[in-house]
Amino acid sequence: ILEINNLKKTYDSGDRHLTVLEGINFTLQAGDTCSIVGPSGSGKTTLLGLCAGLDRASSGSVVLNGVRLDNLSEDARAQVRNQYVGFIFQNFQLIPTLTALENVMVPLELRGERNVQRQAMDLLARVGLAERHDHYPTQLSGGEQQRVSLARAFSNRPTILFADEPTGNLDEETGDKVEKLLFDLNREAGTTLVLVTHDLELAEKTQRIIRIKGGHVVSDTGAPETVHQSEDSNLS
Ligand code: ATP
Repeated sequence: ILEINNLKKTYDSGDRHLTVLEGINFTLQAGDTCSIVGPSGSGKTTLLGLCAGLDRASSGSVVLNGVRLDNLSEDARAQVRNQYVGFIFQNFQLIPTLTALENVMVPLELRGERNVQRQAMDLLARVGLAERHDHYPTQLSGGEQQRVSLARAFSNRPTILFADEPTGNLDEETGDKVEKLLFDLNREAGTTLVLVTHDLELAEKTQRIIRIKGGHVVSDTGAPETVHQSEDSNLS
């Protein structure tokens, strides 16, 4: 479902070039769960944004559900995102002028669904926020905004969900609830999960942990060593 090949990202400002990712390779199958871990500033958020088609790589390729994202225009990438991708941002990115309910309704409306309001209420109930449906983001705590953001990501029925520190701003109880919702979505709908997290307990609950440091993969519990071996033996 996701194929990352020799990915490189450089941020340019004036005559300064900062390479934040280089030589990144991995492949995820549909339904996989994966965590990306590493020190602050190692490039985790940047990598997630490239995988989700929010940003464009400097070189290398990202193939999401068979579509090569790096050749696409911004509009075409947005289309792919609307079709397949859910994203939970570190800073939530809710629309401040819309209520919790309206924020969750947006993706449903964009897809031209029916019973949009009822569906959005059901999703808010799943994250335990039915009573807060008419609150605006500024009237909600960080944890509540996080859960609205999760309900909104669910409403897109994503094939693949990217979450940047999904439990980072939450107390333990709310964090556990959010974690359960993520894994329920994976089990029930087969949604592929890609999490960036500092929470190693959460990371260990995913099938695969990719650790990055200084823009490189330093370990990957899902690296397909057996595949390399059989490729080698085919060559000999
Ligand atoms: P954290 O765990 O602290 O969130 P991270 O591993 O997610 O960190 P990134 O946010 O991907 O790291 O940032 C990687 C590096 O790229 C950092 O040195 C950061 O300062 C730099 N960086 C990120 N975004 C930009 C940008 N838009 N322009 C220039 N530099 C950037």
